[in-house]
Amino acid sequence: MKKDTKLVIAGKNYKDNFGSVNVPIHRTSTVLFPTMEAYQQSEQGKPYYKIKGNVATDYSYGIAGTPTTFALQNAICEIEGAKYCLIYPSGLAAITMSLLALLESGDHVLISDSVYGPTRRFCNKELSRFGVETTYYDPVVGAGIEKLIKKNTKLIFTESPGSLTFEVQDIPAITKVAKSKNIPVIIDNSWATPIYFDPFKHGVDIAMQAGTKYIGGHSDVLMGVITTNDEKLYKSLARVRKNYGINVSPDDCYLATRGLRTMGIRLRAHEESALAVAKWLESRPEVKVILHPAFPSCPGHELWKRDFTGSTGLFSFILDKKYSKEAVSAMVDNMKIFGIGASWGGFESLIMPIDPSSIRTTSKWPHKNTCIRVYIGLEDVADIIKDLEKSLERIKEV
Ligand SMILES: *Cc1c(COP(=O)(O)O)cnc(C)c1O
Repeated sequence: MKKDTKLVIAGKNYKDNFGSVNVPIHRTSTVLFPTMEAYQQSEQGKPYYKIKGNVATDYSYGIAGTPTTFALQNAICEIEGAKYCLIYPSGLAAITMSLLALLESGDHVLISDSVYGPTRRFCNKELSRFGVETTYYDPVVGAGIEKLIKKNTKLIFTESPGSLTFEVQDIPAITKVAKSKNIPVIIDNSWATPIYFDPFKHGVDIAMQAGTKYIGGHSDVLMGVITTNDEKLYKSLARVRKNYGINVSPDDCYLATRGLRTMGIRLRAHEESALAVAKWLESRPEVKVILHPAFPSCPGHELWKRDFTGSTGLFSFILDKKYSKEAVSAMVDNMKIFGIGASWGGFESLIMPIDPSSIRTTSKWPHKNTCIRVYIGLEDVADIIKDLEKSLERIKEV
């Protein structure tokens, strides 16, 4: 079955749910059992209640999830072709809980210099407290990652493309080196999602995505998703998730499962509109560089062509000079369609001036001019372009 079909049918279970097309919201803290033996067996991983899939082997209390959670996990496993799926209350929690599960005092981790800001913050402020050392590597390092591996390197963290600067990483080259040294590789796959980049086909051991973005799709749910086919890694991840008391509300799991059903068609709409907007921006004299992996000028475009099956709604562009703060404000304030705000993946367009040079530590950001990140939503593309056109007129007037 194709992914579009799986998105629609995966995880459905109407027979156990009075015929409801969608698995309803099961809200549960206490799980009741008819006998002490049934309870104890469930606690030990032999669930009294029939649960489908590789989920919640210790279903004896609501913190392990409820049938609404399991429906989402099973759907994601089917869609991604993964054996195991874990759900977290945010994308960031999925990342931090994975790092805590796979690293311990004295270990070294390699993290891409283009990584999502809060991932970097966690490494610098929290992992460091546990005696874990972080090295940030140039996102386009490829097979050169080998030189950075130390005796105590226990994990390689990738994010491709970077969600501000859009370098595409040579994931197969990195995973090849990592396999030869027995080091697991994790990817933050939020931009492409497994629909447009298959992490396991490219040798990745653990795939993470911010379900907050394209799975949720409506800017009203926070969620993180981890998938893997490696039982040993899964067991470490599941243990840490459980011991830290991580749980996601069934209401959010319900919304996420609902989001999956339209994800295929939404992604294609975001892709098409973002390409049209990027093409229009490229023709503008105020715009010097488009940072969109599907554009030949973007670093790593060849890798994108080789490894990805599509692009999505988020990209950046560099203007013709460094504009003043006032000029940038004039540009992004008072837009009719674009909102100013963090995150993306919803139905609505967003705009955000960014300064990658202040974040990086290893790879120098080569651009001095003003950089703008846009997320292209589901509004009519002609209206989106008109809004941007007016904003580019405003920036020049200050
Ligand atoms: C948004 C995002 C996250 C974190 O997701 P939250 O659910 O907002 O915590 C992680 N990585 C990338 C690339 C993101 O864009």
